[in-house]
Amino acid sequence: MARRGKPKLAVWKFASCDGCQLSLLDLEDELLQVAGAVDIAYFLEASRARLKGPYDVSLVEGSITTPQDAQRIRDVRRQSKFLVSIGACATAGGIQALRNFRNVKEFIAQVYARPEYIDTLATSTPVADHVRVDFELRGCPINKYQLLEVLSACLAGRRPAIASESVCMECKRAGNVCVMVAHGTSCLGPVTHAGCGALCPAYDRGCYGCYGPKETPNTASLSDRLQQLGMAPRDIQRVYRTYNTYAKPFRKESKRHGS
Ligand code: SF4
Ligand code: SF4
Repeated sequence: MARRGKPKLAVWKFASCDGCQLSLLDLEDELLQVAGAVDIAYFLEASRARLKGPYDVSLVEGSITTPQDAQRIRDVRRQSKFLVSIGACATAGGIQALRNFRNVKEFIAQVYARPEYIDTLATSTPVADHVRVDFELRGCPINKYQLLEVLSACLAGRRPAIASESVCMECKRAGNVCVMVAHGTSCLGPVTHAGCGALCPAYDRGCYGCYGPKETPNTASLSDRLQQLGMAPRDIQRVYRTYNTYAKPFRKESKRHGS
């Protein structure tokens, strides 16, 4: 039962791998405080108990890939005061949005012995393409501390303090040597949303964009640089076609380098 006065939290899954939901359980030190501040009303990954809506905060993981999903997300929206989409699947369609560039029926015929039983949409799309979303938290998976900040902000009725700057800014603050400048490694850091703490460049690897596009990314300029580093158009296209392939800036840039 919901205790009077405590906000109700719901966590919903659509087409996804569950990694973003696990970030909530992975909070460890803070989880008991979260559980003390809210009633976890619906979170099937953690508990079979289900409290009826309406819910104060809904966290939505996963993309919309079936007609049933498209209906269910509208039901979730109707029951939710704040709706936050979490992760690359929910904010950009996920890796499964690679289907959006091809004919999904051909994939189904290749994968399933009885394709006629498969009822799916032609596309994998972000939650915001279907319903109003109050905040989008990026990442594959999301950063658990950013999730905590978003939850705190929702409960306090303020805007989450999540900077929309690039991974490059995190590299500078961490004192990382730039992998692209120092040894010509291709890196999507200049166009990728911050939040991971510049994890890959800290280990001398280029960023492959798992946090999706930053605000107003200059992808054309980065692609010019990647070309100067010797990348073929097909390879440049591929670097934008991963977890956040259907995020508009990455989608548009990938199409400039091939179909
Ligand atoms: S964004 Fe990544 S970690 Fe999160 S559910 Fe999708 S595939 Fe899993
Ligand atoms: S791929 Fe980029 S955004 Fe993802 S963890 Fe690595 S540096 Fe961070």
